[in-house]
Amino acid sequence: IKWTEGRGWHDAQLVPYAPLSLDPANMTLHYAQEIFEGLKAYRRPDGSVASFRPEANAERFQRSARRLAMPELPVETFIEACDALIQLDKAWVPAHGGESSLYLRPFMIATEVGLGVKPANEYLFLVIASPAGAYFPGGVKPVSIWLSENYVRAVPGGIGFAKTGGNYAASLLAQAEAAAKGCDQVAYLDALEHKWVEELGGMNLYFVYGDKIVTPELTGSLLAGITRDSLLKLAKDLGYKSEEGRISIEDWKRDTENGTLTEVFACGTAAVITPVGSVKSAGAEWTQADGQPGKVTLELRKALLDIQTGVAEDVHGWMHQLG
Ligand code: PMP
Repeated sequence: IKWTEGRGWHDAQLVPYAPLSLDPANMTLHYAQEIFEGLKAYRRPDGSVASFRPEANAERFQRSARRLAMPELPVETFIEACDALIQLDKAWVPAHGGESSLYLRPFMIATEVGLGVKPANEYLFLVIASPAGAYFPGGVKPVSIWLSENYVRAVPGGIGFAKTGGNYAASLLAQAEAAAKGCDQVAYLDALEHKWVEELGGMNLYFVYGDKIVTPELTGSLLAGITRDSLLKLAKDLGYKSEEGRISIEDWKRDTENGTLTEVFACGTAAVITPVGSVKSAGAEWTQADGQPGKVTLELRKALLDIQTGVAEDVHGWMHQLG
């Protein structure tokens, strides 16, 4: 679907997957005016297909668009485009059972050609899709975390809450540092005090204090994950308390040591829920619980996946059924 100044959105079409032809002076290539989303469609036991909370992705896409000075795509158009692609690719939605899905990647780029720094006057919205296997084919495995003190992911007033490529470009070096330290994922602290835990490079964090789960509040510099939001609600259904709050790196270490922080997990569309097994920083290192996936972590993971795969009742109306 194209957007042109003065004309708005026009010319929606379904075309075979193929390379895009871009002018070397395409503004996206120079000034990174680009936003994207990620969501999944699952096959249900009766063979039909449903996507998980596409309107939440559509709304976040609008927030990202506003921050990047791009035109907002109507929520219905976003969902219609995803639905049209899912219908077309229905044979590629894996069979029910396991955790496989069809992953959808809606995105928008500027298409104006020019070297001046300004919001473009032409854009292109596209959706591509790919079958995605289970994130943990051999069973859920805890990840190790590197606490980055050299790099921040986002700053107040910046683009951290938007899902835009620049955030991920800025995270690559920190991720490489984590890998060099033998860790799987980077955890970022806030930019001002280097104290408050924000999120991982591609997942939000949850801290389990007995029967209460706490996730870092949305400060404007972390992404409002849709899995994060779903778990705030789902945890309550299962009899847990859930809240947003502030967790400092000192809280994390101390509460792990004194046993009040019983589990930590990360969450996002790709892995759904990933237990955190260990944490390392320049000055400290600790194992989370016994390094094994925790009980609450696994219970929440199963409850969410059961809704997504159509096994459990969709009490929150999260599934968007395609027939
Ligand atoms: N934080 C970041 C930086 C991410 O890239 C993602 C993945 N979209 C998340 C959190 C989790 O968001 P969601 O649950 O919507 O996938």
